[in-house]
Amino acid sequence: MNNIIEQIGVTGGDVILELSYLIAAILFVIGLKLLSHPESAKRGNLWAAAGMLLAMITTLIFHRNNNGEHIALPNIILIIITITIGTIIGAIIARKIKMTAMPQLVSFYNATGGAASALVALMEFSNPNNTSVLVTLLGLIIGSVAFSGSMIAYGKLDGKVGDIFSPIMTYINLLFLAIIAGITVYLIFATEPSQGWIYALLALSLIYGITFVMPIGGADMPVVISLLNSFTGIAAAMAGFIYQNQAMILGGILVGAAGTILTLLMCRAMNRSLLNVIIGAFGGGAGVAANKEIGTIKEISLSDAAVLLSYSQKVVIIPGYGLAAAQAQHICSEMDRMLSDKGVEVKYAIHPVAGRMPGHMNVLLAEADVPYDKLIEMDDINPDMPNVDVAIVIGANDVVNPAALDDPGSPIYGMPIILAHEAKNIIVMKRGMGKGYAAIENYLFYHDKTRMLFGNAKDSIQKLVTEIKSL
Ligand code: NDP
Repeated sequence: MNNIIEQIGVTGGDVILELSYLIAAILFVIGLKLLSHPESAKRGNLWAAAGMLLAMITTLIFHRNNNGEHIALPNIILIIITITIGTIIGAIIARKIKMTAMPQLVSFYNATGGAASALVALMEFSNPNNTSVLVTLLGLIIGSVAFSGSMIAYGKLDGKVGDIFSPIMTYINLLFLAIIAGITVYLIFATEPSQGWIYALLALSLIYGITFVMPIGGADMPVVISLLNSFTGIAAAMAGFIYQNQAMILGGILVGAAGTILTLLMCRAMNRSLLNVIIGAFGGGAGVAANKEIGTIKEISLSDAAVLLSYSQKVVIIPGYGLAAAQAQHICSEMDRMLSDKGVEVKYAIHPVAGRMPGHMNVLLAEADVPYDKLIEMDDINPDMPNVDVAIVIGANDVVNPAALDDPGSPIYGMPIILAHEAKNIIVMKRGMGKGYAAIENYLFYHDKTRMLFGNAKDSIQKLVTEIKSL
């Protein structure tokens, strides 16, 4: 047996390496499965990280290049030093980052993944041992678009980059795509292309990433963020193909596939087509909804709100970005417990794009130990909204904006919303009359049944809790 193995040029190390990649792949899949539920998500992260650690260690020890040589010791030392520096920086950032800045951080990490894959492709394009030209070029293009697009998404989420919306952007984007496709075809068939073309492709892909994300405004960023995430996975898989590395291929494909499924789910949640996302320039133009008669704003006092809530049968809490910004999840959970103790049925209505990242509200409320069976998805809670005594909108705006249903001129028209306006009473908690992410007016706040409780969500709920206690 050993003889046969030696004859085909395979060593025991190669077998261990391939086996470790298989185990790593299994750990990735288990991790992904566990990530699908908030309760097991932490463990899922650890399982997948263990798979990655295993693949990294065995690669360092057993990887051989085309000439059969192992990684040289000085290179291993260099790799370990850079990994250590990266790990320390990553750990510090992860510990210090505020929960509200998490979406930006995710976008930033996504950008670094895209950049790494693009750099691999750039370096390996001129490597004579690399025979997979198409895969290398795709890795370069997708990785570069993921990098520059995610950096723009990071800037937008952080409020540093605005939208540039103009219908002409669609044509500019299509032109860029056509030129990128043209250069790619040329590089595949040219016998000895000049190095300049590969840099031109890199530059154009980076610019396309920017022009592709820049016009996307309104409330459509979630779709783009998950699309960019799937791009990074696909680019990593391409890099894996270049190096014939199964762990990279599988890891990349899993991220790419999970990102694509999430993108499609987001598209459905936002009522957008994926083609619109890829071409860009939809949903921008943060205009104000069409002329509509504005009612008057009515406020509610803390004591009235406490009485209304305490004597209700059904209360639905609709959390949004403001709940995360105020870090009001713990006090909100306390209010929920107090009302539940009084016999009130309290549920949470979860919109798929509430907050600033997919699953934002689930993560936030899980952190505050809200039981998962109280979190009801939008499609399941909406039919019951007319039976709800009080809908409490906490720091949510776009996801309860009825303009999405009845104002064809609105940039969020067509997006499904939580039907807060169908509840018998609506209490909206926010600091003032600030707009949401889509920067448009919300007529829910002027609705006959709506009463506003102005203030920072955490302070307001804290005061409300004191009032409810005193009843
Ligand atoms: P919005 O961004 O629409 O509204 C948030 C509201 O919270 C604001 O109107 C603000 O009003 C209020 N607010 C802010 N800080 C506080 C605070 N400390 N206390 C109380 N209220 C506060 O949030 P939604 O969750 O309703 O909607 C999410 C939006 O973000 C959607 O448009 C979505 O498409 C978009 N988006 C979502 C992503 C995702 O993946 N989930 C990613 C990127 C974008 P005021 O200033 O008056 O207090």
